[in-house]
Amino acid sequence: MRTKYIFVVGGVMSGVGKGVTASSVANILQARGFKVTSIKIDPYVNVDAGTMNPTEHGEVFVLDDGMECDQDMGNYERFLNKDIPGDNYMTTGSVYQSIIAKERGLEYKGRCVSVVPDVPLEIIERINNAVKKSKAEIVVTEIGGTVGEYQNILFLEAVRMLKIENHNDTALVLVSYLPHISSDSEQKTKPTQHAVRALNSAGLQPDIIIARSTEAIDEKRKEKIAFNCGMAKGDVISAPNVESIYDIPSNFEKDNLSDIICKKLKIKPRKKDNKEWNCFVDKTKNTDGEVRIGIVGKYFASGNFVLADAYISIIEAVKHASYANNKKPVIDWLDAGEMEDDKNLQKLSDYDGIIIPGGFGDRGVEGKIAVIKYCRGNKIPILGICYGMQLMVVEFARHVAELNGAHTTEVNPKTFYKVIDILPEQKEKLKQKDYGGSMRLGTHKAKVEKGTIAFKAYGKEIISERHRHRYEVNPDFVKQLEEKGIVFSCKSPDGKLVEIAELPENIHPFFLGAQFHPEFKSRPLDPHPLFLKFIKSAEKKDEI
Ligand code: GLN
Repeated sequence: MRTKYIFVVGGVMSGVGKGVTASSVANILQARGFKVTSIKIDPYVNVDAGTMNPTEHGEVFVLDDGMECDQDMGNYERFLNKDIPGDNYMTTGSVYQSIIAKERGLEYKGRCVSVVPDVPLEIIERINNAVKKSKAEIVVTEIGGTVGEYQNILFLEAVRMLKIENHNDTALVLVSYLPHISSDSEQKTKPTQHAVRALNSAGLQPDIIIARSTEAIDEKRKEKIAFNCGMAKGDVISAPNVESIYDIPSNFEKDNLSDIICKKLKIKPRKKDNKEWNCFVDKTKNTDGEVRIGIVGKYFASGNFVLADAYISIIEAVKHASYANNKKPVIDWLDAGEMEDDKNLQKLSDYDGIIIPGGFGDRGVEGKIAVIKYCRGNKIPILGICYGMQLMVVEFARHVAELNGAHTTEVNPKTFYKVIDILPEQKEKLKQKDYGGSMRLGTHKAKVEKGTIAFKAYGKEIISERHRHRYEVNPDFVKQLEEKGIVFSCKSPDGKLVEIAELPENIHPFFLGAQFHPEFKSRPLDPHPLFLKFIKSAEKKDEI
């Protein structure tokens, strides 16, 4: 079979679920037995997502090979239930970086390197490389931003150029939005018509329109879009808001989307089999009781709105583990800053479990430490991730080991008790101002100690988990802290780096922090062992 290319672009506005649409398209095609891979293109000039503030761009997702990328890569991995390599992610910055490197290496053989066609050609080469590496039959590429924007025009040009030689092998999906003024007024199609015009002026015509709206769009609206945009009515797919993103694949199949795509791409449809996925979706709808989880973070505020995007993989991991335990997750946001005020700490008792996610810098740190202390004292299950784990160690050092003023040198480089300190190889990088892609990143193996909570969760000794940090538990304090009762239950294979810190189960039901990010490896069809164990103890909190 010739490689089949599907491109997903957005119209009208951002934030309407282009990423989950692209993921769901990949999901339904994989369910038909095709080998599918997914690519994300981000139009900004940053070389990767690693240097961006999560409040602005959402979570930085980390792949096995250490690529720091857009959160949509996480959606792809979750919807395809497989690991995706860093080759499947590109930005304007990374594209230009390789063009410039090639130019400096005389690879263009002395000719003038031009924005067109050389940039689109580089983009096409990257797509084809990713396809080759993953041996995919179908590649779903999502182009970030919305059509009509300056930033993604060269990526659209790449689609146009690729289409010239692969006309029958390319399908363009436009994810658009139909606004309405009030819930009983008609959904307006005009913005979508404008989005199609913008695509047309880039030399492209959509093959399929995914019409996002709060409610399903009716036949009349489909006809209107089809007529004004030069499409068949059947190629306009209704995509109303749904309760859970995991419902989207089956919703698309109600409109026979995989059949439509197969027809467009001239491929013989294969038998549908999405049994496992549907079984997971059933679980999300048949829960028995709730589990209430509070996430204490600082990247929520966006004007007057709460932007949960910064912690999206944690949210999803909580969902996967809760549904696997037949519980409906109820997730609340707790602002770390507010937790510096003692009277707000009482709120924590309303939750079955608390998560302290990863983070950087000093804002909200004392609030997080106060939360950890409260949860430790009140036996509230608590899971710390990366910075969360480091702060659990700081809290333990201060209040149990009585190392007054113990801290991470990220916040207080002058503290006498540097219980969390910078990794030796990181020190030099910071001195050189080498910030991009330079943390301890990606998958590293680690060894779990038998007889610990971590071992009970994993049920095995050797694990491999994804990392993104510069600091670590200071080896000079390991023995001293262990003597006071903390258990470093997982370490790097050479025993040098602490990977998990926990308190024994007879002291606390679940007080565990991981230096790595378990959330990046949690999937609907394969919930993460640490989240499963955390939710299990959260569920039992009231029995304590
Ligand atoms: N700021 C901490 C470090 O660099 C934790 C990073 C994180 O939470 N991802 O080690």
